[in-house]
Amino acid sequence: MREIRVRFAPSPTGPLHIGGARSALFNWLMARRYGGKFIVRIEDTDLERSSKESEKNILSSLRWLGLDWDEGVDVGGPNGPYRQTERLPLYERYARQLLESGWAYPCYCTEEELTAQRQAQLAAGEMVRYAGRCRSLTPQERVRLEREGRRPALRFKVPEDRVITVRDRVRGEVSFDCAGMGDFIIVKSDGIPTYNFAVVVDDHLMGITHVVRAEEHLSNTPRQVLLYEALGWEVPEFAHISLILGKDRAKMSKRHGATSIDQYRERGYLPEALVNFLALLGWSPGTEEEVLTVEQLKAQFSLERVTKSPAVFDLEKLNWLNGYYIRHSPVERIAELALPYLRRAGYAPGEEKLRLVVAVARNYVEYLAQIPQYVDVFFNDPGYDDPEAREVLAQEQVPRVLGALRDKLAGTGEVADAAAAKELLKKLPKDLGLGGKKVYLPLRVALTGKTKGPELHDLLPVLGKEGTLARLAKAEAAIGITD
Ligand code: GLU
Repeated sequence: MREIRVRFAPSPTGPLHIGGARSALFNWLMARRYGGKFIVRIEDTDLERSSKESEKNILSSLRWLGLDWDEGVDVGGPNGPYRQTERLPLYERYARQLLESGWAYPCYCTEEELTAQRQAQLAAGEMVRYAGRCRSLTPQERVRLEREGRRPALRFKVPEDRVITVRDRVRGEVSFDCAGMGDFIIVKSDGIPTYNFAVVVDDHLMGITHVVRAEEHLSNTPRQVLLYEALGWEVPEFAHISLILGKDRAKMSKRHGATSIDQYRERGYLPEALVNFLALLGWSPGTEEEVLTVEQLKAQFSLERVTKSPAVFDLEKLNWLNGYYIRHSPVERIAELALPYLRRAGYAPGEEKLRLVVAVARNYVEYLAQIPQYVDVFFNDPGYDDPEAREVLAQEQVPRVLGALRDKLAGTGEVADAAAAKELLKKLPKDLGLGGKKVYLPLRVALTGKTKGPELHDLLPVLGKEGTLARLAKAEAAIGITD
């Protein structure tokens, strides 16, 4: 079988978005599944909107997600350069070929003339397209226009009588009538190629076998097919993956929450959670499984299971997956990742305390930026000034409850872990002849000053035996008990 060569070809006009990341991931998974090559090419021909900063953001986001490329910007390769602005002589060469073979012609129309044409067509209720004014200029007319100082763009001559059928691996057969297309520009008057032209030259020269990209490019595909044919090149396979919609079924936008990968990274999403989530945006393994490691994805991904229907971006699902990965990763890794968030919130735990605190707090969060909300109780002694907390401590059974835990602790060693804490706490209600709530809520308030927060069995091992006894004493003092 022919080696599969796929690519991700972002325009560096902004940070890497969810949709771009998904396209990159699908291509990467395909390459990895079938032992092919994944190429990253920068499509920076929109000189005004492209920036180095965006390029850097895109590449670092890809790397952070764990995607690597076999050829492309930064890593190089035999088909470079991999940045379109560095490939201008190549486009020039093939533009000349199209000109010489009669497939392209110089167009001298100015911006104003084209606008006037568009308005006239709209007014007449006609389809807006280039009407072909420069298609059949005589050499003399060309010379005259050049003398006026006009710099020509290059247009592709679209055969009006053709219907282009694209056999899309996701969408099936899609046909486009060339009649309404109008001749399109392949090189602008400043010598810069347009997207449709550059993408064809590059995909061909880079040996791309499968073009897997967003659905929004489907309508560009017939123009690209015409260019492949005119240049005498084999047309690659196409797969256009569906739009990503918000939960309200409108096209995903900022309104639906964070759209760029770096925003998720900053909030403390784990790359493997995002990869898992992105893979399921339009692809399914064919089972009900939702948690899929990257190794499983690499082994299972195929275009056959990419769905035609739009993918819905479900933030709750991403949060759920992220929480899952946060809880199932080695605690040392999560502790290291959580430390910057804790520092920013003003906490400076040593290594041991950090590990203990994060081991507990991670049970309550969906992303790491939430961790500081759950650690206050481990760093600050309770103040008991919350009215709800005071009310709980005023209940008549509270002195007995606090005393009972103190006695239990006195008769035991260190509370090693949550299991040991559970054991210790389990029998308290029965011993005291009280319901669970009458026991556990006051203990929580005594130890944390709050009515909500981490489970008691999570708290005890972090506070330690001494720390717990000290807080019990503080609570007793607060309600006026003295030994
Ligand atoms: N530069 C195009 C984009 O960012 C790539 C389209 C393609 O993959 O052909 O949308």
